[in-house]
Amino acid sequence: MGEPLRVVVIGAGIVGAFAARALVRDGQSVTIVDPGPPGGRQATSYGNGAWILESSLLPVSVPGLWRQVPGYLADPLGPFAIRWSHLWRAAPWLLRFVAAGSTVAKVEKTAAARYALTQGALGHYREEAAACGLCDLLRTDGLLSIYRDRADFEADALAWTLRARYGFSWQELEGGELHEFEPGLSADYGFGAHLASDANLTDPGAFVAGLVEGACRDGARLETVRATGFRFEGDRLRAVETEGGGEIVCDRALVTAGIHSRMLARQAGDRVPLETERGYHVVVPDPVHVPRHPIMPMDGKMAITMTRAGLRVAGQVELAGMEAEPDWRRADILAGYLPRVFPAFAGRMDGARIDRWMGHRPSTPDGLPCIGPSRRSPDVVYSFGHGHSGLAMGPISGRLAAELSAGRPPVVDPEPYGAQRFA
Ligand SMILES: Cc1cc2nc3c(=O)[nH]c(=O)nc-3n(C[C@H](O)[C@H](O)[C@H](O)COP(=O)(O)OP(=O)(O)OC[C@H]3O[C@@H](n4cnc5c(N)ncnc54)[C@H](O)[C@@H]3O)c2cc1C
Repeated sequence: MGEPLRVVVIGAGIVGAFAARALVRDGQSVTIVDPGPPGGRQATSYGNGAWILESSLLPVSVPGLWRQVPGYLADPLGPFAIRWSHLWRAAPWLLRFVAAGSTVAKVEKTAAARYALTQGALGHYREEAAACGLCDLLRTDGLLSIYRDRADFEADALAWTLRARYGFSWQELEGGELHEFEPGLSADYGFGAHLASDANLTDPGAFVAGLVEGACRDGARLETVRATGFRFEGDRLRAVETEGGGEIVCDRALVTAGIHSRMLARQAGDRVPLETERGYHVVVPDPVHVPRHPIMPMDGKMAITMTRAGLRVAGQVELAGMEAEPDWRRADILAGYLPRVFPAFAGRMDGARIDRWMGHRPSTPDGLPCIGPSRRSPDVVYSFGHGHSGLAMGPISGRLAAELSAGRPPVVDPEPYGAQRFA
């Protein structure tokens, strides 16, 4: 191998952290830049549902979704909301989003590209957890999706058919079986499907921080600064520019800044339709009841997971842009769901002790991230736009971006993920 490449990784969320680990393992000279702490509260990787779902193949946009949009607009407290003030801005993204899922054939194509990024994710988590001393944060309790009854489950056939096609299997639990499997559940839920192959983290932010610490132990440097742009000579990258007029001289840059990648991509020649699907979580410390499994109540579409800080309920999709203040009523909807799923919480939710968080899912309209070189220069490589599935796709997306930047043979075919698909 020749001289190591000087690579700047911009953004230390889950994607940047895995990319940095891959680059360090490959012997490159790595600088990670982030204005906040790796995996800190400012990062979406901090506050998500904490699930590593290799089975997450279905994009959010599916046939018939457009019929539900008027209802979402009318109901400010549903699981999906669009603020009127943001509607005109979000409209082009929404049109592309609905079009991306308009036929089953399109959804199947997207699912194939998602599968390429999620399969084997858990193996990467295990490997890096062992290398960085993070095994205690990784759990393999599977995922229990709960429905009112079998008819509701059958109405969700597209997701389950796709999973079956890609070799995922699950245990179906009906009536008493479900309640024995997951004691304490409300009688309103009569059917469950347990995917044993899924996993979760008990503290996603700490896992990201641990990966970055591990990369730094192995030679990477962490700089607490915001990247603002790039200095090019011709089509070659010479430096990443930073806030305050500084720069970091380098050969390559990886853009892994989550929702903030939109601005950096613009500087590298690409206008990517990246929208924030804002999401919320609440964490109940010392919960009166601890579920045995991570749970997804399919009527509320939220993630209920035991974490180190307490029982986390994460979910909601709100299109309201980057600047609007959080609407904490959306977090309260999540908190209000807990007694509906587990009656033990009825009258036991101490609002004062509940931690509430809002973050930005970095979402493209077609359910696939942007991975690959920028239009302006092959030296700037993207890996952002992981929407609802950044934890699941992070290891392979990060590794793919690292390989593309170093000119290594890529772990998966990068073709479906190029940013220029939106040109
Ligand atoms: C409520 C909710 C629930 C979710 N649940 C799940 C789940 O269960 N499973 C799953 O797989 N996914 C889930 N997601 C999605 C997942 O969290 C995201 O896809 C993922 O965290 C995105 O990771 P990232 O590394 O791209 O971005 P981030 O985690 O946002 O990290 C980006 C980093 O870049 C830094 N940065 C920003 N601008 C700059 C700059 N100019 N220069 C340098 N650094 C910069 C930021 O400070 C930040 O640290 C959920 C999301 C939400 C909101």
